Amino acid sequence: MKSDPKSYLLFQRAKEAIPGGVNSPVRAAKAVGQDPLFIDRGQGCRIYDMEGRGYIDYVCSWGPLILGHRHPAVIEAIEKALLRGTSFGAPIDLEVELAEMIIDAVDSVEMVRMVNSGTEATMSAIRAARAYTGRDGIIKFDGCYHGHSDSLLVAAGSGVATLNIPGSPGVPESVVQHTYSLSYNDPEAFAEKMAEKGDEIAAVIVEPVAGNMGMVPPDPDFLAALRKETEKHGVVLIFDEVMSGFRVSYGGAQELYGVSPDLSCFGKIVGGGMPVGAYGGKKEIMEQIAPKGPVYQAGTLSGNPLAMAAGIAALKQISMPGFYENLEETSARLGNGLARLVERLGIQATVNRVGSMLGLFFAPGLVSNFEQAKASDTEKFAAFYRGMLERGIYLPAAQFEVIFVSSAHEMADIDETLSAAEDVMAGLQDTAGET
Ligand SMILES: *Cc1c(COP(=O)(O)O)cnc(C)c1O
Repeated sequence: MKSDPKSYLLFQRAKEAIPGGVNSPVRAAKAVGQDPLFIDRGQGCRIYDMEGRGYIDYVCSWGPLILGHRHPAVIEAIEKALLRGTSFGAPIDLEVELAEMIIDAVDSVEMVRMVNSGTEATMSAIRAARAYTGRDGIIKFDGCYHGHSDSLLVAAGSGVATLNIPGSPGVPESVVQHTYSLSYNDPEAFAEKMAEKGDEIAAVIVEPVAGNMGMVPPDPDFLAALRKETEKHGVVLIFDEVMSGFRVSYGGAQELYGVSPDLSCFGKIVGGGMPVGAYGGKKEIMEQIAPKGPVYQAGTLSGNPLAMAAGIAALKQISMPGFYENLEETSARLGNGLARLVERLGIQATVNRVGSMLGLFFAPGLVSNFEQAKASDTEKFAAFYRGMLERGIYLPAAQFEVIFVSSAHEMADIDETLSAAEDVMAGLQDTAGET
């Protein structure tokens, strides 16, 4: 399917001016054999392309927009902040307020530093952990994505998985030699590695709910094993909650699963749709950060007024009673509806879901790690994606991403989506029969 004519022309220009025509790889929609749609505007759960055609949006800016587009409280907060100025490079009240809100929301966080992206948050947390332990080693897990900093681009998910880039050219061997990547949800392999290397490891970093190899829930034993082994070896446990934080529960995945890390990383939702990241945790680790301590980490626009205002407004909305219960209802309707559909139509697919994070894998069995995720039929996903797009449903343009439900999605939107999915899947069945 060709995108609308205006998007097509813009993309031709973009490809000359910007590598691949996009400022972040998955947006190019290459994996689903599609040119990207250029978006004119969004409202609620819908986005509109340059020709004014509307779509129900399940990308939600890849996670941040848990309230949907242009939530009035967020817009109002940004407008108010805008009247004061866009940036001062000096401390402001809003930074303190958001920091306190994060500390109140997340039990394990005693102190927090704001940055501008999830990538910065994880990169800085790793630096803090290395300084704190005086060690270099890092353990991560296959298919988990922690942003694009050098030491974390090993066996990574998201666009790295979609584009099949093993590490990345431009990352020195000497940097990644300290990074070990193990299988997700395999506590035995992890315990073995820790027995062998534990005393050289500064940090274990994990997505406590994995959302960058598609949606893969953690085995509770797995998270518990991470906590137990890291404690035993004096290793800093980092939960990368850039996606799961404020998404699966107000206190993050750590609250949902009852496992408490030493450091946590945030982003996405915590910026209310503006560019933000944050990392925080135990005071004794965080107090090493400059200017309190010697570990250097800085940012010209960190704690930006507009971003702080948007984040505060978003957290105020989602901390209201009943917010997550309502979101669970619509999300469950979508997840259960899709699961019933694939079963009834005999399609080889599996649906994973934790709260408003969903994964639909065209895979032969259950998906609980990257190996199993990679067994998915990505051609079939691409066909499903294109069919849904034609019917006005905007899904993430790759098998290895998450379908996000926002509080702006209503039951009627979910039902419209399910009826489109039924249509498209019935067609997939036909083509499966032909080949
Ligand atoms: C999105 C994401 C990041 C990177 O955040 P950016 O703001 O894109 O740099 C890191 N970790 C996880 C788990 C993410 O989902």
